[in-house]
This record gives sequence, structure tokens and C-alpha cells, in this order.
Amino acid sequence: MATLGSTPSIMPINRCGLPTVIRTTWRPANPGRRFYCCPKPEPNDGFQDWVDPPMCARSVMIIPGLLNNMNQLQQTARESAAIARENASKARRFKIMLGLSWLFFVMYLMME
Ligand SMILES: [Zn+2]
Repeated sequence: MATLGSTPSIMPINRCGLPTVIRTTWRPANPGRRFYCCPKPEPNDGFQDWVDPPMCARSVMIIPGLLNNMNQLQQTARESAAIARENASKARRFKIMLGLSWLFFVMYLMME
């Protein structure tokens, strides 16, 4: 087991003979805790061992709420970006319509 935050330089060998990969779990019991895992796509040998030591009870309690808040903020940011793109598109259309209305107005004055 490594100290918290460090990445081991030598990857353990998996049951299938391939070097393991490091993944991060976000399950409520171990949010953000890294573990060694089979590199193959699922179904595979799955979990091998923990990279990080067990998390303290306070972290286990707080991290899911922070993760949820972050996901909600990212969703809000995506929605705001979509609205901004839509408004920019409307602004371009209005500028074209304004330019055309001035063009027709000038043409009308010239025909008088
Ligand atoms: Zn494997």
C-alpha cells in the first residue's frame, strides 16, 4: 500500500498475467479511493487491491456531497453555455434583419 496521493512506480501483476491499472471508485463507502484493477474491459478480474489507505469517516461522509455539488455545477455550466450559443445565434439574425431594414429604408428614401 502506498501513501495517500502518491502513484506507485511498479504496477502489480494481475491474475490474468497483465500489469494492473489504477482506477478510482466513487462508491459511497470509498469515494475517490484508488484501486488496482484488471486492464481488460469488463467482465474481467476486477478489483485486485487498494492503492490508497482507507479513508477517514469524515471524508467518506463529505466527498459524495461535494461530488454531487460539482456534478450539478457542471450541468448548470453546460446549460448556460447552450443558452449563450443560442443567444449569439439570435443576435446574428437580428443584426442581419437590422441591416436589411436600413437598406430598405435608404432605398425607399432614394425612390422618393
Ligand atoms: Zn485481468
